[in-house]
Amino acid sequence: MLLAVAAHQAETHHMFNVKPGDLFGDACLLCGLLAKGARICAPCLDVMPRNDCFCPCCGQPVMTRQPDGVRCAACQRKQPLFDLARAPFHYAFPVDAALKKMKFRRQLAIAPAFAELLLPVLHAEFSHCDALVPVPLHRWRHVTRGFNQARELCMPLSKAANLPVLDSVVRVKATGSQSGLSASERRKNLHGAFVARHNLPFRHPVIIDDVITTGTTSGQLAQALLRAGVSSVSVLAVAYSSTL
Ligand SMILES: [Zn+2]
Ligand SMILES: [Zn+2]
Repeated sequence: MLLAVAAHQAETHHMFNVKPGDLFGDACLLCGLLAKGARICAPCLDVMPRNDCFCPCCGQPVMTRQPDGVRCAACQRKQPLFDLARAPFHYAFPVDAALKKMKFRRQLAIAPAFAELLLPVLHAEFSHCDALVPVPLHRWRHVTRGFNQARELCMPLSKAANLPVLDSVVRVKATGSQSGLSASERRKNLHGAFVARHNLPFRHPVIIDDVITTGTTSGQLAQALLRAGVSSVSVLAVAYSSTL
């Protein structure tokens, strides 16, 4: 018994000698292996599915690279309500798994890791933007989840790019799950979902989200912002999913 207590004390003592950084600080957020001071390790960065071949307008992945400036069929048919959308990754492993962990298992440390990867895109393509707008959750969803993943992405971006975060857009409709709905059903489901107050103190907001699926959410939010008087709306998300 005494020996067991002594052993336990020795073990506890040993545990307290381990610096927190040894356990968590250098672990890659995607694979859990040593990341040498980075949030995502180099091998994981290498295999992340990059969305390199995309429509210059809506950012959706396209099969073959088009001549410069040629838009996808959907954008040629109808200009989206936003000017420009970008998502640097496909919604595929390990990006999809990490985004699900962030959203459904509350692993909020993943947000600044992805924000770090969005920052160069923000600088390169959205230099005209003057505010960040996280896609708002309906307040019931916000209460249940306890956080808004889009806002979690916005906070480190706001700090690094010195842009304000606009929180005053409200999601007035609890839309439920969008998955399994067709594009027109999604539009109907989301119609009038967002309300932005007028006289917003900026002109070129960029909507921030975790995943773009059909662009319907961004389109509806863009419409609310344009109605509130902004000049243009852009969209920046971590991943583009055309199959959700
Ligand atoms: Zn890794
Ligand atoms: Zn397009």
